[in-house]
Amino acid sequence: MSSKVIITIFGASGDLAKRKLYPSLFRLYKSGNLSKHFAVIGTARRPWSKEYFESVVVESITDLADSPEQAQEFAGHFYYQSHDVQDTEHYIELKKLQTRLNQEYQAEHNKLFFLSMAPQFFGTIAKHLKSEQIVDGQGFERLIVEKPFGTDLSTASQLNQELLATFDEEQIFRIDHYLGKEMIQNIFAIRFANSLFENIWNRNYIDNIQITFAEQLGVEERGGYYDQSGALRDMVQNHTLQLLSLLAMDMPSAFTKEAIRTEKVKVFERLRKPSQEELKKLFIRGQYKSGTVDGKKYISYRSEPNVNPESETETFVSGAFFVDSERFRHVPFFFRTGKRLTAKGTHVNIVFKQMDSIFGQSLEPNVLTIYIQPTEGFSLSVNGKEVGEQFRLAPISFDYRTDATATGASQEPYEKLIFDVLNNDSTNFSHWDEVRASWELIDQIEAIWQENQVPLHHYEAGSMGPEAAFELLQEFGAKWQWDPREK
Ligand code: NAD
Repeated sequence: MSSKVIITIFGASGDLAKRKLYPSLFRLYKSGNLSKHFAVIGTARRPWSKEYFESVVVESITDLADSPEQAQEFAGHFYYQSHDVQDTEHYIELKKLQTRLNQEYQAEHNKLFFLSMAPQFFGTIAKHLKSEQIVDGQGFERLIVEKPFGTDLSTASQLNQELLATFDEEQIFRIDHYLGKEMIQNIFAIRFANSLFENIWNRNYIDNIQITFAEQLGVEERGGYYDQSGALRDMVQNHTLQLLSLLAMDMPSAFTKEAIRTEKVKVFERLRKPSQEELKKLFIRGQYKSGTVDGKKYISYRSEPNVNPESETETFVSGAFFVDSERFRHVPFFFRTGKRLTAKGTHVNIVFKQMDSIFGQSLEPNVLTIYIQPTEGFSLSVNGKEVGEQFRLAPISFDYRTDATATGASQEPYEKLIFDVLNNDSTNFSHWDEVRASWELIDQIEAIWQENQVPLHHYEAGSMGPEAAFELLQEFGAKWQWDPREK
């Protein structure tokens, strides 16, 4: 890995930069992955001095630093350039600063650009980086872009074209921060390093797979953005489909980024395009009403600040995807994601086919659960015998949970992902082919919704979404394995 690099962050005064990027860079610094030969240029509209910028950086890492001196030493690597992304003059200044810092820090012309601002600016920034020769073909030149990558296929394609005018696909790293999570990466280990699972990871043994991204939070202060986006675009197009691809892919021929990507892309290409009828039946949308979460009362989505009081935007979506591969043909991948639900948690349940009853006793299916957050780990439920004289069956669970984040043993997602970019490892980023295929599917669903052919279900805050999301699984003879209301 080359830790010699000048990192330019566009949107340096923003929420993401302060909450995630500076702490992640500091962790990389502390673990020696960034050392003396790096500098960070922060740009944003505000006219900050270097001293003020340093104080912002120090504040964001106070809890992580061993001493104030260490925090200050790290912040010394940060430089600020007030910048309006539309103004060519400002890029000329940026180029001068970049050139000076490259010499000062002996960064060997390596450059990393992080676009941590609204995507509408990405094209302009990319264009100017080339025209003002900040991107000049020397050293490595890599670009990290934040989500959302477009709002539909047409805007995503346009954005992609704009980036491609300056960067090649291999230089573009599209962030999906879920892919930086420890347990998501552990899916490879669970699937491919255990004969127990590897041999039965297919339609002969798996009945269905369930992906849940549940949030207790509402839209908080993101009402304005969220009302334009909705759960389908905000959570399904990216996180849900990326996770699905890791669960459904075939074993890569090698553990290289190219081989993994090839297999992931194949899953996206094999995602079944539903018929018009299926689109109406297989995808459920909902919006939260007022209700109680953990004993506290919450207002409805339509009453949230910056949300249209007649909004038809979905805060919940559930559905079934299918992958037309030899491995998984006809196996439903159920998913649900929503705000203001009973509990917070990202879980995957792999539900194995149910055996017939034995000795007249019915059996529960075996379920492998992967816990992604807030706790990490997995459990396997099997049928065992209840202690006692009678032969009575009862489910037993083998549980393995870690709290690696709490002990500091696992990398934070942004830390892991920036580390990967410095290593030129694109495994945990979304390739354009994946983004394109996912938008094609999402656009189909969105089109049916726009035509109002599918009801918008209103669910109570604190529930697990509308009844329709439960009925969907019943139609397939299945049920959601994770139901936090049952506790
Ligand atoms: P923000 O609104 O807090 O910050 C935006 C930044 O862009 C500010 O630094 C602002 O000065 C700068 N900016 C805006 N217009 C500019 C212009 N014309 N010229 C120069 N600078 C300009 O946004 P954020 O929450 O930090 O999010 C940044 C990006 O990350 C967005 O694309 C967002 O969707 C994405 N994202 C954020 C989060 C999060 O937790 N905040 C999570 C996931 C994705």
